[in-house]
Amino acid sequence: MRFSPAAEISRSALLHNLKRIRQLAPEANVMAVVKANAYGHGLKTLARWLDDAGVNGFGMARLEEALCLREEGIGARMLLLEGVFSSEDFELAASHQLEVAVHDIEQVRLLEQAQLSQPIKVWMKLDTGMHRLGIQPEEFESVYQRLSQVSHLKGDINFMTHFSVADEAENPHTARQIALFNQLTKDLPGERTLANSAGALVWPAAHGQWVRTGLALYGASPMIAGRNQDFELKPVMTMRSTVLAVRTLKSGQPVGYGQTWRSGRDTRLAVVAMGYGDGYPRHAVSGTPVLINGKRYPLVGRVSMDMLTVDIGDDMVEVGDPAVLWGKGLPVEEVAECATTIPYELLCSTTARVQYHYV
Ligand code: PLP
Repeated sequence: MRFSPAAEISRSALLHNLKRIRQLAPEANVMAVVKANAYGHGLKTLARWLDDAGVNGFGMARLEEALCLREEGIGARMLLLEGVFSSEDFELAASHQLEVAVHDIEQVRLLEQAQLSQPIKVWMKLDTGMHRLGIQPEEFESVYQRLSQVSHLKGDINFMTHFSVADEAENPHTARQIALFNQLTKDLPGERTLANSAGALVWPAAHGQWVRTGLALYGASPMIAGRNQDFELKPVMTMRSTVLAVRTLKSGQPVGYGQTWRSGRDTRLAVVAMGYGDGYPRHAVSGTPVLINGKRYPLVGRVSMDMLTVDIGDDMVEVGDPAVLWGKGLPVEEVAECATTIPYELLCSTTARVQYHYV
């Protein structure tokens, strides 16, 4: 028997989530955000599934991610969300029909100098309140004018912005970001995209021509304290492993490194083959749910590199029994909360020794 964790990646869940996003944002094209190895799910396979399902385009952070998909023969529209930062990379992007975000005047300068073999489509990224990347409102007019003069642009300049608190449904900041974006781009030609997953799910005024969805496609809720079920999303990744030992623990005995948890009664522990060396969060607290044979039990003690310990009480659990760390039946959002992190980080933190099964 082998005791190693495996990530099961479900095509039907992915296609279900794509359908849900289309239902919730019916007027918008869907740009699947596939950066960071498709949020840890596997870039090539996920992009292939999405392309076959007719997704309208892809968004990614890095040039390499887009080139990888072009090599795979995916011809859909692709947007480099952070743009590129050399004239050579503009040339490479243009020759592969990649669209680029322009969020800094320096990129306009590099684009002016580039020797493009074909015209390039650009998206002006506007800072409407995220204050991370983007053209400031006061420089919008001058940057727009200068970018408009670049000779090898393909079609109109398009516009994008990114939200900082769209995951807080009551926070008025998002409405202000939308209003500023609309005001800056009023009456200008070109496509628009504002919404990430949270924007697509709960801010209809932000749908524009394109929603750029990552997390929701993978079946997790981006909302603070949200759950996939709130939007009828299905987890694409289920992280599975097995019980590698079952032991008894006397009342008062501590478990694991640092002796951070002691049982208040005689009990039994299942040791599950999953640790931070596989991408399980070391900061998950005692009480974090783990499914064994489909039933929820609390993780107890510290997570170690290759295993974690679960209090199973008097229940019948045997070596080799199946465990689920997150996914079907156990939302990754819940596990992330118990580790004071976010589902994004858990999904893209799985390590190389985790096996992937595409089903
Ligand atoms: N657009 C941009 C510019 C992003 O950086 C991201 C991800 O962080 C997304 C869209 C997708 O966000 P989400 O996964 O919340 O849908």
